[in-house]
Amino acid sequence: MLKAYKYRLKPAKKQETLINKHIGSCRLIYNWALEQKIKTYEQTGKCINHMELDKLLPALKTEKPFLKEINSQSLQGMTKHVDAVFLDFSERRTAFPGSNRRNKARKLLSKIHEKISNQRNNFQHQISSKLISENQAIALETLNVKDMVKNHHLAQAISDSAWSGFATKLEYKAEWLGKTVLRIGQFEPSSKLCNVCGYHNSELTLKDRVWICPDCKTPHDRDINAAINIKKFSLLE
Ligand SMILES: [Zn+2]
Repeated sequence: MLKAYKYRLKPAKKQETLINKHIGSCRLIYNWALEQKIKTYEQTGKCINHMELDKLLPALKTEKPFLKEINSQSLQGMTKHVDAVFLDFSERRTAFPGSNRRNKARKLLSKIHEKISNQRNNFQHQISSKLISENQAIALETLNVKDMVKNHHLAQAISDSAWSGFATKLEYKAEWLGKTVLRIGQFEPSSKLCNVCGYHNSELTLKDRVWICPDCKTPHDRDINAAINIKKFSLLE
């Protein structure tokens, strides 16, 4: 007899943060691995397997240092999982003999793209609902996506996450629940401005995720500092 048990976890705040980091990082690795496989398939017609993907992980960790906090087994588990998804698709593909090979490859890719886009959409729905239900007001900075995409470090991250779709979801959900979404204009130094003393750190580069204000010595997390600035700015407008 098979029995299933359901557990409700009650993690402490610290554990909850770690769990969320795990989930976020695994999601990132999943999408990254899928994109790597698609790209390789498009360019060479060959499939790259999870062992080859695992070899690319150290370079990815250098690029995204927060991944170092997550144990390797979790990350490697995701590349294995993507292998299985890919295999599933290619097996279904071979189940239709006779039709044109290139056509089949195109269908396979569009299916995978559709799956990724559905996952993104679900993720945006979950996050936007959570943000709107937990907050009275949300301030959004208008990003200069056109210029940011010219920077190839940012291009993929931005087109991947489909910002405008996310902002739209936030706005209509806010309207349903009588909450406010404030949009501030483009505010170039939101990351570079110390939210405590106003020092403008022109030296800050994209790699700097944390920095210490040379003037008032406050340590900053890049994104949290930018968010505080955006909040201040939106309240002024
Ligand atoms: Zn400062």
